[in-house]
Amino acid sequence: MSGVETLRVETLRVETLRRKLFALARNLWWTWQPEVRKIYRDLDLEVWNSSNHNPVELLERLPEGRWTALAADPIFLAGVDRAFRLLQSYLSVESTWASIHAGALVARPVAYFCSEFALYECLTMYSGGMGVLAGDHLKSASDLGIPLVGVGLFYREGYFRQTVDAEGRQHAEYCRSDPGRLPMDLVKGPDGAPVLIQVRLPQGAIHAQIWNATVGRCRLLLLDADVEANTQETRALSLRLYAGDQQLRIQQEILLGIGGVRALQALGIRPGVLHMNEGHCAFASLEMARQIRDEAGCPLSEALREARSRTVFTTHTPVPAGHDWFPPDLVEAHLGTFRESLGMTREAFLAMGQLHAGAPGEPFCMSALAIRMARGTNAVSAVHGRVSRQMWQDLWPGRAEDEIPIGHITNGVHAGSWIAHEIQDLCARVVHPNWIVRIRHADLWEGIYRVEESDLWSIHEILKVRLLQYIRGRLATQYRRWGVDPDREPCYRSLDRHILTVGFARRFATYKWSTLLLTDPARLASIVNHPQRPVQFIFAGKAHPNDAEGQEMIRQIVQASRKPEFGGRIVFVEDYDMGVARRLVQGVDIWLNHPRRPLEACGTSGQKAAMNGVLNLSVLDGWWPEGWDGRNGFAVPATAVPTDGPVQARANLDGIFRILEDEVAPLYYDRGEDGIPRGWVARMKRSIRTLLWRFNSDRMVIDYARGAYLPAAGAASRDGRVERP
Ligand SMILES: *Cc1c(COP(=O)(O)O)cnc(C)c1O
Repeated sequence: MSGVETLRVETLRVETLRRKLFALARNLWWTWQPEVRKIYRDLDLEVWNSSNHNPVELLERLPEGRWTALAADPIFLAGVDRAFRLLQSYLSVESTWASIHAGALVARPVAYFCSEFALYECLTMYSGGMGVLAGDHLKSASDLGIPLVGVGLFYREGYFRQTVDAEGRQHAEYCRSDPGRLPMDLVKGPDGAPVLIQVRLPQGAIHAQIWNATVGRCRLLLLDADVEANTQETRALSLRLYAGDQQLRIQQEILLGIGGVRALQALGIRPGVLHMNEGHCAFASLEMARQIRDEAGCPLSEALREARSRTVFTTHTPVPAGHDWFPPDLVEAHLGTFRESLGMTREAFLAMGQLHAGAPGEPFCMSALAIRMARGTNAVSAVHGRVSRQMWQDLWPGRAEDEIPIGHITNGVHAGSWIAHEIQDLCARVVHPNWIVRIRHADLWEGIYRVEESDLWSIHEILKVRLLQYIRGRLATQYRRWGVDPDREPCYRSLDRHILTVGFARRFATYKWSTLLLTDPARLASIVNHPQRPVQFIFAGKAHPNDAEGQEMIRQIVQASRKPEFGGRIVFVEDYDMGVARRLVQGVDIWLNHPRRPLEACGTSGQKAAMNGVLNLSVLDGWWPEGWDGRNGFAVPATAVPTDGPVQARANLDGIFRILEDEVAPLYYDRGEDGIPRGWVARMKRSIRTLLWRFNSDRMVIDYARGAYLPAAGAASRDGRVERP
């Protein structure tokens, strides 16, 4: 072979490798494929970590010489080929759940709208549970073959990254991402130019381009107003999630709702079903009605009826303050032009969003609009259903609370994304080689009882050590930044794998009561310092930058972590995100939850823990009353106490402490000769056996398909069946 030819062959090999690795990186399928992630991690662990686990950035930063070397490494090439083939076969499977059960959705997909999507930690466009849920919904829709398109906003700075200082003050840092280096692509037209959509406001237009993130077989469209055609002010719409004043918020919601439906139209996607999540995106239903009217040339009333029959709404927030309430003048100032295009009067338009339609001066509530514009509304757990029926009762004047037509579909989490791969391998061995597609078959999970106690326990210990090592690394960085010597900090010294470890990680919203245990410091100290049965606590979570109370809670926990009386057994880990969440729910022994009842809508983090054999210790709120069977975790009995007030706090606190001392710790420390806590492991198995098959997002998405999507698709030209206000 001549030199020139060798060179060409090498170039070709590098090109092929490049194509495959980028193709794998640009389909977020890798986020639930540990084997594929391993390829990237092994390429450069440092860049993998510094890029917040972003394979596209990692590949972009790989030096030329490295590509040549990799292209000549047969073992590496074989690994990449295998992953690439797996992706191709995943994408080309013809027989899926949807192909058999949901054919009606094939012609016209479901459009799933949400203001945040959490797919992986490198895409920072989420703040909490709802975003994670939206991401998991997309992943399960892909696995089940349900044609579903996500629609959201791209935020250049996303949600903030958190640090705390030595006094415990939270600092919020917004990091600008380079969208060209994220696992997504700019949507371009046949002419190669970016596809642009626009929404006219009285004060000028909002223009937006569209990013496409591919999630297995599904896609997620993200609108981005950071384009030249916009003013500086308008470009800021695509900067941050849940930041800014009401004016910015309503503009973001106009972009999401109206712009989102226009983006679908611009790409030739004709959704048969519109699924609105939380009120933020509720304008979507009105834009859909406008398009129906323009296309069919029918009266608006008919188009509204048609749009309703195709729209379903999920409410996610059990506190009124968590919903958007806009002053009427603000609505008119931003939506006047759109309202006129619908041919509606100011009063009629406002009435659609008022709790009491037509009440002068009453604010415009996005969730009220969403409920009115949907054929059906659902909450996200049975408890949340009851709370929601009560909360929105005024929309159905004269109706009894139990006749309010709001049901529930309980949330679930994506098993492939949240279960440690060691546990996944175990399931493949003892439950079924293909357990992941049979996950909903309850009986199959009897198989988990076949696992040897020692096997499950040693996997758990590995996951726990991995978590503690990770936390130690994070703490070291944190202390160095504070200018203190890690070895002199109590928590750094005392993290111990032999100690019963309790995890508590959530958004520091007030109702989650994060500092509850600190309200009785003496009892807490006696629990963590118990001579035979000590307990250590790991806390994590962000408080919204405008939430002074939440930040104060963080301060108290960080200060507690430095107090000698707690012996370093209270730890706060900074910057709670999906990556931290994954390690925590896989590695602690107990997952703790004590919200102010009944304000926990669902609490999906507990479901993630349960699937990993981590036992829940929770107040009976959110999903836990549906999940707890007396032996698959621990529950603080429901007390007949009002929502807030010190009485419930006291009852919850006593309940948690009592269960920790009398039940959890004795069971955990009851070891056989071989050091294995058999009673504990039995509960771990029971947690997996009874909870995994129900609280996964495949089950949830199928519930949506059967209970909401298929009826909506079938009723596309008829009136909705669910009664509306
Ligand atoms: C799962 C998850 C949540 C939701 O947790 P809750 O149980 O609702 O508090 C929030 N944030 C992150 C990063 C998660 O992974």
